[in-house]
Amino acid sequence: MRKKVIAGNWKMNKLLGEAVQFVEDTKDKVAAKGQVESVVCAPFPYLPALAEKAEGTHLEIAAQNMHFENSGAFTGEVSPAMLKDFGVTYVVLGHSERREYFAETDETVNKKAHAAFAHGLTPIICVGETLEQREGNQTMTIVETQVKAALEGLTEEQVKQSIIAYEPVWAIGTGKTATSEQANEVCTHIRKVVSESVSADAGEALRIQYGGSVKPANVDELLAQSDIDGALVGGASLEADSFLQLVEAGAK
Ligand code: 13P
Repeated sequence: MRKKVIAGNWKMNKLLGEAVQFVEDTKDKVAAKGQVESVVCAPFPYLPALAEKAEGTHLEIAAQNMHFENSGAFTGEVSPAMLKDFGVTYVVLGHSERREYFAETDETVNKKAHAAFAHGLTPIICVGETLEQREGNQTMTIVETQVKAALEGLTEEQVKQSIIAYEPVWAIGTGKTATSEQANEVCTHIRKVVSESVSADAGEALRIQYGGSVKPANVDELLAQSDIDGALVGGASLEADSFLQLVEAGAK
C-alpha cells in the first residue's frame, strides 16, 4: 500500500508573516506521517524559518526548485546542500512553470534528481502535456519521455523513493481539472513505463500525484483512483483550512 502525499505548492505567494502563520496553524493538525505525508513547498527565503517551526511535527517543508551543483559561481541559485542545511526534506523539480518560463529541460531535471538523492532530499518530479499536445494525441508519448529522462541513471531504490507529479499544463490554475479517469489513465501509464524501464517493484512503489486545479471538492474522487497516490496543489493550498481538508482526504 503506497502512502499518500499531499503537497501544497505556494508558488510565488505569501509574505513571511503569512507563511509562518500558515505553518503555525497547520503543523499540529496534519495527520500522522503513518497515514499521509503533508508537504508545504514554499519560496526560498522562508524555508529556514518554516523548517524550524515545523521541526518535530508531521509537516514537511519543501523547496520549489534548486540547482544541481553543490556550490559555485551560479548567481541567484540555491544548492541542494543549502536546502538540506535549512532542514528541507522534499524538492519540486521540473514544474511546468519552470519548464516554460525558466528554460528547465528534461536534462536539468535529471541532474537535479541525482543531486536531490545525493543530499537525502525526496524529489517531486513534475511531468505533463500542454493542451496542444493533448489535442494532438501526444499525451502518453510526452509524459513517457519526460518520466524516462527524469529518472535516467537513478538506482532502483531511488526510483522507488521518487514522487512523480502528473500535472497536465492545461489544468494548472485554470479551474479545469482533468476528469479523475483522464488523470488516472496517465498515472497508470507512468507506472507501466517505470515498471517496464526500471522494474516491476519500482513501478509498484513509486508514488504518483495528480496536480491541476485540485481542491477539497474534487480531491476524494481523484485519490480514489487506482494509480493516484496524492496531489500537488497550487491555489487550494494557500489557505490553512483548505490545505488541512486536502490532507484529511489523503489520510482516509
Ligand atoms: P493549481 O492547483 O492552482 O491548479 O496549481 C497546480 C500546480 O501547478 C501545483 O504545482
